[in-house]
Amino acid sequence: MPEQAEFGRFFLPGPTEVLPRVLQAQAQAMIGHRGKGMEELLAGLQPGLRSVFQTERPVYLSTSSATGLMEGAVRNGAVRRVLSLTNGAFSERFAAISRANGLETTALAVEWGEANAPETLAAALGSGDYDAVTVVHSETSTGVLNPVRELASVAHATGGGDVVILVDAVSSAAGTELRADAWELDFVLTGSQKALALPPGLAFGVANERVLKRAEQKANRGIYFDFLEFEKGVRKDQTPNTPAVSLFYALREQLQVMAEEGIERRWARHAAMAGTVYGWVEHMRGRGVELGILAPAGFRSPTVTCVTLPAPLSGPAVNKAMKERGYTIATGYGKLKEGSIRIGHMGEHTVAETERLLGVLEEVLRA
Ligand SMILES: *Cc1c(COP(=O)(O)O)cnc(C)c1O
Repeated sequence: MPEQAEFGRFFLPGPTEVLPRVLQAQAQAMIGHRGKGMEELLAGLQPGLRSVFQTERPVYLSTSSATGLMEGAVRNGAVRRVLSLTNGAFSERFAAISRANGLETTALAVEWGEANAPETLAAALGSGDYDAVTVVHSETSTGVLNPVRELASVAHATGGGDVVILVDAVSSAAGTELRADAWELDFVLTGSQKALALPPGLAFGVANERVLKRAEQKANRGIYFDFLEFEKGVRKDQTPNTPAVSLFYALREQLQVMAEEGIERRWARHAAMAGTVYGWVEHMRGRGVELGILAPAGFRSPTVTCVTLPAPLSGPAVNKAMKERGYTIATGYGKLKEGSIRIGHMGEHTVAETERLLGVLEEVLRA
């Protein structure tokens, strides 16, 4: 077993660090998934999950990673043509998933590090026969936060009422403001191992009536991610197949942790951690280390920051030096690997822990 390090040293943008009390909650006896005990467990999870998505609708629990519900999103939510807003690795993956499911898919791309603009979406929807838009709220590969509320509003206003917006909120849910109902997100999904600070292996999603109607029109939606089955099950406090019961125990404990803090205070804590990183980047620049933040101000994710490095500093070398000091961060993603690092300031981390991390990072960068 890996040695249990002191909490507050593991800053990957997923999987994130899990509280010991949540890890321990998994070590409980199995229960049958068709019994009363499971129904009570599932019913008890709903209020906390609905708070994460700010929804009155039932939240689906999928025993899969988040990619499973991305696949479910396009399998259930799109019939004709999909417009995929892309600005990094995960949004590009959403487009690839759509294509791999046989849907005619057009990517509306901006550079990695930029946000997708509502005006551009409006123009594209006006000129194509699309029935679904895919978008990533917090692009974990770049640290960009997309204006999902405005994008949803444009999709509905210019799509002639026939366009649904399918939202990947994997690294935003539970870390920044997200309002499935008020923002009219037709389907929105997240995974367990990002700002929710759970072990990997679960995904969560909320579908509205428009998406469920769309699903009814699809002949080949598949079985494992059939939203009509999820909807039928969740209304009876059941899951369509055998779920990851142990992870549900962890989820119950983590939702308790989150209820103790309150969702809005949780969002504020993430914003404060992000602000600490931005302030530190300025501080380092003042000391002659020309760091940068890839995402432009106003479009920065409160859960993950991609910090650009001046030559000859390199992402993998900085990472390695941090590892030697007992800290885990990430390199830049894909093509950004060499020239940047990513800090996942999400989950149960605090401003104080973030400051300690940055102190160590400063030593490394100035060495
Ligand atoms: C991590 C991540 C995913 C993929 O999640 P898996 O759980 O690995 O399937 C998708 N989108 C975003 C934005 C992510 O951060």
